[in-house]
Parts: sequence; C-alpha cells; structure tokens
Amino acid sequence: MEIILLGSSGSIGLQTLDVVRRHKILIKGIAAKSNVQTLELQAREFSPRYACIYDESCYADLKTRLADTKTEVLCGKEGMCELAAVGCGMVVNAVVGMAGLEPTLAAIESGTDIALANKETLAAGGELVMKRASEKKVEIIPIDSEHSAIFQCLAGNNKNDLTKIILTASGGAFYGYNKDKLKTVTKKQALHNPNWDMGAKVTVDSATLMNKGLEFIEAVRLFGVKPEQIEVAVHRQSIIHSAVEFADGSVIAQMGVPDMRVPIQYALLYPARPESGVNRLSLTDTGLLTFEKPDEDTFSCLSAAKKAADMGNNACAVLNAANEAAVGAFLEDKLEFFRISELVNNTLENVKANKKVTLQTIFEDSNAAIEYVKGQIK
Ligand code: MG
Repeated sequence: MEIILLGSSGSIGLQTLDVVRRHKILIKGIAAKSNVQTLELQAREFSPRYACIYDESCYADLKTRLADTKTEVLCGKEGMCELAAVGCGMVVNAVVGMAGLEPTLAAIESGTDIALANKETLAAGGELVMKRASEKKVEIIPIDSEHSAIFQCLAGNNKNDLTKIILTASGGAFYGYNKDKLKTVTKKQALHNPNWDMGAKVTVDSATLMNKGLEFIEAVRLFGVKPEQIEVAVHRQSIIHSAVEFADGSVIAQMGVPDMRVPIQYALLYPARPESGVNRLSLTDTGLLTFEKPDEDTFSCLSAAKKAADMGNNACAVLNAANEAAVGAFLEDKLEFFRISELVNNTLENVKANKKVTLQTIFEDSNAAIEYVKGQIK
C-alpha cells in the first residue's frame, strides 16, 4: 500500500503518519500548506517521491532544504492537484477548508480512491464530487470519526435498508451556554475541545456546532440520505461515534475511546482491523452515556447547515465559505465568537446561490459569500 497524504502537517496528517509508521505503509507524496520545517522532517523520514508546499512563497525554502534528497518539490494549488492525480493506492485528503476540493476532484479524475478527512470538500462540492466519484468508480472512504462510524455500521448490511442516521456530537466547548454567555467567550476557550484533539478551524467549528452542521451535509452526500433522515444527538462522552437505524428497527452503533487513529486506520486498511495501539474502552469504567437534542436556537450554525442541506448543493457552498471566512476573522481577532453564527445565517439569507452545480459556480458562490462576510466585518 502506497499513499499520498495531503495536509501532512496538520492534526489529521500527523495522526495519519502515526498509522503509517505502525503498519509500514509507503508514502509516495506529502503536501502541506506552509509548514516547510515539518514537511522537511517528514520528507527525510518517509523519503516520498514528491513533497508539495501549497504556499508558493515557501517553495524556494523547501527546495533548498530538500536539495540533498531525491524528493521532487512541487508547489501551489496546481502542484497539489498534480500530486493528487499522480496515481497511488489511496489519496488521504486531510487539507483544512475549501482548498481541499480541487485536489479531491483531481484524485477522482485520475481514478484514485480517497480517504477523506476534508469535510469542506463535501460541504462545498458534495454533489459534484459524489457524481464524479461514482462515474469514475472511485471509492470515498470517510475519516471523520462520525462518518467512519456510519460507514463501519453499514458494512455487511444492505444500504437500501438504511432508514436513519444518528449523528452524535460532543456539544463543543460551550455546551450548556445561552446566547448571553456566548457573548463573553474568548478565543482561548473556543480553541479547547474536551474530547478530541483537533486543529484550530475544526475546534472553533466544534464550539459553534458548525462542525456538526458540515458533518450533517457530509452525511447527506456520502450516504445518499435525505436531510430528514439524520438525527443529531449531543453525546458528551464521545464514546458512540454515530449509529444507523435499519428498516427492521435495529440500531447499530460504533463505539470506542475517542482517538482519530481508529477511523484513519480503518480508512487505510479497511476491512482489516489490526492492532491500532489506542486505549481500550471499558463500558463499566465509562459509566453513564447521555444523549440529548442540540440547542439549535443558541447554536444556530447547525440550523443554518440543515437549511442549506435542504436548499441544495451551492447553498451549502455559500454556508461553508461564509463560515470559513467568519472563523478566519475570529482566529485573527477581527470578529467576536457569537457573530460567527450571525454572519453565517445572514450570508445564507442574502447570497443567492446558483442552481447549476459546476466547479465554477461553486467558486463563484463561495467567493460571493466570502465578500459578503468581509463587508459585514468592516
Ligand atoms: Mg467529526
């Protein structure tokens, strides 16, 4: 097995490399946004044929660092798409944000299976991605823990018997807060997730419940269900990673101690389940497992995402881009936390999405959303 890993310096990328080390998987290529130092270390450890740096201003630096190696250095969006399409056993897409969409499409066009951690790919371009994947007979295996759980629960069952998906949510850092209390939260608080160790963007998304919103859309696209067939359940312990209900009334859940190496390993080695090195689950030590409805009035990013899922693909692209822009501004201290959901909802209401889904309209609508958000922040 030989993989290409996009987003190798991020949280999922680093954990993917843990799985790679354990199972002696070969690395054909790695790509990172701008972290040349990490990319150099990774290139020296795994000797990939290609290393790609997305930020073109870092190209010369990486090239100098790797001058004594056999690794070929690529750069930019073109380099990342070229790498995704070069051909290998599987492309792992762990890029954060919209930037992951085109490499996903490039991998699909080359007929390469994809292990997908980039939820924005399916949120922004889900219809297009799933259509091309089925035409090219490319498998998209989810790495997101919830979708991996659903994928695992569906294994060996008849997909036509699937009646409902129960998408579990940790509730994020501000579980139990009301609207007033959300007005006082700080960046440091938003960047803390009690159960999962993740990158900054997804941790903020987790705190606003937009992460669940994007995952809601991701589930609609990946598993071909209607939005009304998905129930979101806040499950603070993050032991049940999601569940499915079949026509006979049986509900099958996937459980375990929260550790991303399990879904990553399953995506890479499925259907094999070798030793992963993660902690074991003891139900009696865990004790109480709780489930409740999310507070969508306070955390209105989730209701916005559901609305976008009903409206269709490019509305989801608008939602995703508005969120990306708002979270970016929040992380740069230009926006208060509670305004993220406000801006996402306003953008969805005011930016009218194209009906026709093409890569071009996805970007047009996304850019319109980003401009709208920028206009509101000034
Ligand atoms: Mg998740």
